[in-house]
Amino acid sequence: MSLMRLAYASEATFEAQPVDKGVEPHVARILMTSRLHNGQSELVGGLYYGNGQFFQYLEGEEGEVLKTYRRIQNDRRHRNIITLIEEPLEGRTFSSWSMKYVPLSKDVHQFLENHGLENFNPASFSARQCEEMIELIRNSRHDQKLSHQEDASNGGKAEIPKAFSSSLRAGLIIAALGLLGALIYAGSLL
Ligand code: FAD
Repeated sequence: MSLMRLAYASEATFEAQPVDKGVEPHVARILMTSRLHNGQSELVGGLYYGNGQFFQYLEGEEGEVLKTYRRIQNDRRHRNIITLIEEPLEGRTFSSWSMKYVPLSKDVHQFLENHGLENFNPASFSARQCEEMIELIRNSRHDQKLSHQEDASNGGKAEIPKAFSSSLRAGLIIAALGLLGALIYAGSLL
C-alpha cells in the first residue's frame, strides 16, 4: 500500500455567516461530511479556514487521497483550487484526526506576522510556509466540536448533560434507600 500527502489552497464561494462562537455553518457542514468519509477511507489531515480561504492537508492511501481530492475539486462551495503539495509519503505523520479543524486563530496571526504577511492567502504560500501551516494544524489544540448537531450524529448517542445525570443518580439513590427502608419496616412487621 503506498501512502501520499496532499495540500491545496482554495477560495470559498459562499458568503461567510457571522458566528460568535464555534465554526462557520458552511464550514461545519463540510467538516461533518469530511469526518464521516475520511474516517471510512482512513484519511487524516486538517482544514484551515480564514479570510474566505481554505488550506487543506490530507494524507493516506494514495488511491483514497486522489479519489477524495477529485470529489473536493468538483465541489462548488469553493473555486480557484491550487495544488500546493502532492507527493508520496513514507509513514503517517498525523494522529487519528479524520479532519482536524483550525480557525483563523492566534497561532495563525503569529505565523502571518512572522512571515510579514498581511492576510491569510494560502494560494501564495511558499513550500516552507506550507510545511509550517501543516505543523500548525498538526499541533493545534483547538476545540474540535462543531456544534450540538455533531453530538447527535455521534453514532446516534445523545450526550446526557452532567447536571441532569448527577441529579438523576441522586434521585435513584434516594429511591433505593426509601425502598430498602420500606422492606426493613415490612420485614419487622412479619
Ligand atoms: P454530494 O454530497 O452528493 O454533493 C455533490 C455536490 O453538491 C458537492 O460536490 C457540492 O458541490 C454540493 N453540495 C453538497 N453538500 C452541499 C451543501 N451542504 N451546500 C452546498 N452545496 C453542497 N469531502 C471529503 O470526503 N473529505 C474531505 O476531506 C473534504 N474536504 C473538503 C474541503 C472543502 C474546502 C470542501 C469545499 C469540501 C470538502 N469535502 C470533503 C466535501 C466534498 O467536496 C464532497 O462534497 C463530499 O465528499 C461529498 O461527496 P459526494 O460525491 O457524496 O457529494
